Amino acid sequence: MLLIRHAHLVSPDSEVEDASVLIKDGIIESVGVAGSFHAPDAKVFDASDLILTPGFIDLQVNGAFGHDFTADSSTIWEVASGLPQYGVTAFLPTIITSPLDNIAGGQEVMLQGPPSGWRGAEPLGLHVEGPFLNPQKKGAHNPAYLRSPDLGAIEAWSRENSVRLVTLAPELPGALPMVEALVERGVLVSAGHSMATYDEARVGFDAGIRYGTHLFNAMPSLSHREPALPGALLTDDRPTVGFIADGIHTHTAVMALAWKALGSRMNVVTDAMAALGMPPGQHILGDFQVNVDGESARLADGTLAGCVMPLDAMLRNLITYAGCTLQQALTAITDTPARALGIEAERGRIAPRARADLVLLNQSLQVHTTLIGGEIVFSR
Ligand code: ZN
Repeated sequence: MLLIRHAHLVSPDSEVEDASVLIKDGIIESVGVAGSFHAPDAKVFDASDLILTPGFIDLQVNGAFGHDFTADSSTIWEVASGLPQYGVTAFLPTIITSPLDNIAGGQEVMLQGPPSGWRGAEPLGLHVEGPFLNPQKKGAHNPAYLRSPDLGAIEAWSRENSVRLVTLAPELPGALPMVEALVERGVLVSAGHSMATYDEARVGFDAGIRYGTHLFNAMPSLSHREPALPGALLTDDRPTVGFIADGIHTHTAVMALAWKALGSRMNVVTDAMAALGMPPGQHILGDFQVNVDGESARLADGTLAGCVMPLDAMLRNLITYAGCTLQQALTAITDTPARALGIEAERGRIAPRARADLVLLNQSLQVHTTLIGGEIVFSR
């Protein structure tokens, strides 16, 4: 048993000044104010001056620490063990457009599970971004592997088989039956890398799409006469909307605008690539060499190719640029992604029966300590 005492607890649905949290067998047993528990057997963690939040959940991570999941999915566990330094306690390893057997290889890595003794942020299943994308919005994906939607190609894609989120372009012929099949198998389906008009996007939502991948990036611009996919994502209450809050993929003013329109439908993701946590230089994303200058990651032609900013920095960006309170900004990386995946009872909150995936931040909102399943996995 572990007893966290004297924490300033901030979670999407509550804020407690001098909180105590009792953890048993990796699960939160009870939450109260100071002195509310008598647990003489518990190890005590004094969290005075620290802010206690739910663990962060990142639904789009291509890699980090020099590893790219599309190039080598066996690095998922190694990368996962480094993510808690950014407050990340669960994530979706993301495999971008590549041959179908490469995606199957990622499923295999997930199904085999971690090496013994492994500790880290839990991969909850794959985010498969592509290959059913619009060639006109390929971004940094290799066009050689883009395909037309084809139900036969995704027979083995299901939540059970470690596919958790699929990004596709809903306007492609045959995309809608694919959406329906994936939803049936427990997969969250997202519109992205797409030329969808406003109407096409809404038809996609009708078919079951409930997510939008990196709003404004790899989609048509919002126009006042044809609001297109961004206009549909911003105004339709059904989808949760992924947003890269690095101030580079979108202007900081657009971050503020998106937050005002989306509120708790905004889900901040990093879209982190291999260079996250590494010095500037040459890194890879899928098949391509990417130049990383310390701020952005780009192909030789200037196309943005993933991101190098960690999730805790994006939390601070939301407060600085979008005018969110800490509680609102936290929602975008805890409760909102948990709800999108349908796991909000056990993750993304600090409440009895939830997993003890927790982050302690210092007063400048830097990650101080990260706990996963009640165990300290990172400490500054
Ligand atoms: Zn993308």
